[in-house]
Amino acid sequence: MKHFLLFIVAAVALSAGAQEVICHRGYWDVEGSAQNSIRSLVKADSIGAWGSEFDVWMTADGVLVVNHDESYGGVVIETAKWKDLKNMRLANGEKLSTLKEMLNCGKKLKTRLILELKPHTDKQQEAEAARRAVKMVRKLKLTHRVEYITFSYQAVKVLKTLVNPGIPVYYLNGDMSPRQLSELHIAGIDYSIGTMRKNPEWIDEAHSLGMKVNVWTVNSERDMDWCINYGVDFITTNDPLLLQRKLKR
Ligand code: MG
Repeated sequence: MKHFLLFIVAAVALSAGAQEVICHRGYWDVEGSAQNSIRSLVKADSIGAWGSEFDVWMTADGVLVVNHDESYGGVVIETAKWKDLKNMRLANGEKLSTLKEMLNCGKKLKTRLILELKPHTDKQQEAEAARRAVKMVRKLKLTHRVEYITFSYQAVKVLKTLVNPGIPVYYLNGDMSPRQLSELHIAGIDYSIGTMRKNPEWIDEAHSLGMKVNVWTVNSERDMDWCINYGVDFITTNDPLLLQRKLKR
């Protein structure tokens, strides 16, 4: 019986189509790289990862900056000016990147660019960050290479008004079912492994609504196996090589 159930789960996974690897904050856990660095994007591309994710904030003077936390080196990005940040160094010696630098690098690569817009305290600034990011992507002719993800429900709505139909926007916050999100007409859910393990039925629910499922940050073999067997469409990981081996690519 157990084997039969595994067979069914595997058959569902296969019917769901290819499962893709996304590097979380780029491929950074390797010599010479660092989270959210240009190098991490190049590294993600060099191993043939389907996508590479990075985090974006906007400074008070309107510069889009790539960084995970709200502050860097003790400087809060939202309220800082770019001149106060531009000389800061990442762990691998690179300078802190702007979104423009990241996208210009991505232009020369093949991996998809997964742009996470961070939730800003000032919601007007957040909406402006979304507008500037989408405008920049369009100007650099990267519209069809970029997908947008965000924890901010407001930013999801703003992004949906800005991007062309068909450009993927995903919600990250894990507090709404696919059905509750369906009226936003977003590409899908991008939830944590903890949330998805508590709500595995959301995978089928999303698929039945024509939505995709991305899960983060999937680093252990056990969690990778879970995502693969349940037919998750995109798996975001800090260990892309292990996941690629599991997916036999
Ligand atoms: Mg992120």
